[in-house]
Amino acid sequence: MLSTPRLTPESYKRLVETARNDPEAFWLRESRRLEWSTLPTTAVDAENGWFADGSLNVSVNCLDRHLATRGDQAAIIWQGEEDSNVLRLTYRDLHARVCALANILRDSGVKRGDRVAIHLPAVVEGIIAMQACARIGAMHMVLFGGFSAEAIADRLADSGAAVVITANVGRRGAKRIPFKTTMDAAIALRGEASTVRRVLVVEVTDDTVPLTEGRDALLTPLLEAAPTTCEPEAMNATDPLFLLYTSGSTGKPKGIVHGTGGYLTWASYTHELIFDHQQGDVFWCTADIGWITGHTYVAYGPLANGATLMLFEGMPSHPMPGRWWDVIQKHGVTTFYTSPTAIRALMSEGNEIPAAYDLSSLRVLGSVGEPINHEAWTWFHDVIGGGRCALVDTWWQTETGGAMISLVPYAVEPRPASATLPLPGVNPVLLDEKGTPLDGAVEGILCIDGSWPGRALTIWNDDALFQTTYLKPYPGHYFTGDGARRDVDGYYWITGRVDDVINVSGHRIGSAEIEDAISEIHDISESSAVGIPHDIKGQGLVVYIVPHEGLSEEQMAGLKDQVIKIIACKVGRYAVPEAVYVVPDLPKTRSGKNVRRLMRKIACGETEGFGDLSTLANPGIVGELIRIVGKA
Ligand code: ATP
Ligand code: MG
Repeated sequence: MLSTPRLTPESYKRLVETARNDPEAFWLRESRRLEWSTLPTTAVDAENGWFADGSLNVSVNCLDRHLATRGDQAAIIWQGEEDSNVLRLTYRDLHARVCALANILRDSGVKRGDRVAIHLPAVVEGIIAMQACARIGAMHMVLFGGFSAEAIADRLADSGAAVVITANVGRRGAKRIPFKTTMDAAIALRGEASTVRRVLVVEVTDDTVPLTEGRDALLTPLLEAAPTTCEPEAMNATDPLFLLYTSGSTGKPKGIVHGTGGYLTWASYTHELIFDHQQGDVFWCTADIGWITGHTYVAYGPLANGATLMLFEGMPSHPMPGRWWDVIQKHGVTTFYTSPTAIRALMSEGNEIPAAYDLSSLRVLGSVGEPINHEAWTWFHDVIGGGRCALVDTWWQTETGGAMISLVPYAVEPRPASATLPLPGVNPVLLDEKGTPLDGAVEGILCIDGSWPGRALTIWNDDALFQTTYLKPYPGHYFTGDGARRDVDGYYWITGRVDDVINVSGHRIGSAEIEDAISEIHDISESSAVGIPHDIKGQGLVVYIVPHEGLSEEQMAGLKDQVIKIIACKVGRYAVPEAVYVVPDLPKTRSGKNVRRLMRKIACGETEGFGDLSTLANPGIVGELIRIVGKA
């Protein structure tokens, strides 16, 4: 049965107007969705930040305040890789476990403002650890499970973390991922200079791992002995909650710091709005907690709103294709939030696979991380959502804390492949290169005017970099680094990163526009468009395409022509590429984004000097692309 949506087109419009007319009152009212130990009396001032005179504790907001009303409701449904391996934690269970771990952290000497590194596979302890840090006012720094020892060592050193929470090993299909061994190697890389003095180990499997005397401890016995209540630390609204590194799509990852009161207000507000969150929903965001999406829409937004969240240990297509659909069917998932990369991969498995599952529990679908092309949008909407679910494309960044431009289900008219409208209270502007705001239907540099509660506080240890990256490029505006087009109805279409804009004979082309056109060719699973210098046109366009597996030679031979034809037809003759490279894969960040800066360099004939590659999921592809481009 369809529940009544939270917002109607009329109430949504009223919300937009209230936010526009009196933002101070609007945000102060929204802050009341949280429980404060001292209520804030101001929303924002440039000097002091958001809700500056308020104080609160994030874990009290995510756990304690739900105990009276939903203590026995599942907070987390965890599905292990093995089908029989399921764990249901009620809000009461979660509260007890968080308190126990918070006590252990305090006993380990962790104080307010200290950094704790969390390096875990998709087990409930990840969320528990984040909440435990929040309870005692420590900042967490979550490391993606797949990071190499070098990537971990850099982040440990930059953050100065003294305590680490990791696992003995993680499971990935038949494979065992050596979490503890990788952590040991990371700490050893810095030798005496390492700041880490305590390593707490979650035993995910029965495997035994070496423990360093005096530094390492298994968590289970400590948890069994720890008290299950823990006095929360009252934090100022503008105290930092966590430190998290960006995906590194455009270069060296930035250590983004988020605050307490503003961030949690934003997480709660956006989670409720964009997913039309309702009592009884089973909310599944597939992101790893090592990324911002996993912070805001796994760990904080859903718990702040008293939701039931789904956490899955396994992979989309293991041990058989359709495993994700199986999880949705088994647990009655109502809200399903994932990335375009995942959607495209699942789409390439064909429609018969999802057709074998009952997906009727689904109500709202979501996408984040990259522009979603028309093909993927339509497939997700029609095949997975059965044409009946709202599909929200949510544009945002690590730095924005939560969604900024997104459909609000049932309140905003959807449009395939558009992130649609800014959320009430968010004021995007499009600028030309000189920084002049542009009106009406136009394409430009996407900036945000004014502030919003979820905006990052700073870059860790480098506020000057925060200023020069986001605030100085276009004074008076927050610079997102992305480009967008606005249509006559005010809908936004993200065109890609500003650095990736290709200027062919004076025509500005966003990478997303070209890739969207190519996505209509069924034999191609993915593509990336980049610009290279061109004597006459200024820039020329180069395209990398990844064909579907199992194509015949004849089909392969026809691909380049199809690409040229579809670009000429959908975008224009001026955009016809100088070269089309057929490649087995595209370089991707570990969060699944295509790294165009590398493809651009390789297309220019460069073979070295690629900068920080630690965030690449598939570094081996770089050499292969160099070879393919060199041979062509
Ligand atoms: P880095 O900042 O280190 O280069 P990153 O920008 O990939 O890495 P994230 O903060 O994880 O790190 O990603 C935010 C970026 O992802 C946005 O700036 C935008 O380019 C892209 N993005 C996210 N969601 C969407 C979306 N729905 N549509 C289009 N692009 C999106
Ligand atoms: Mg970025």
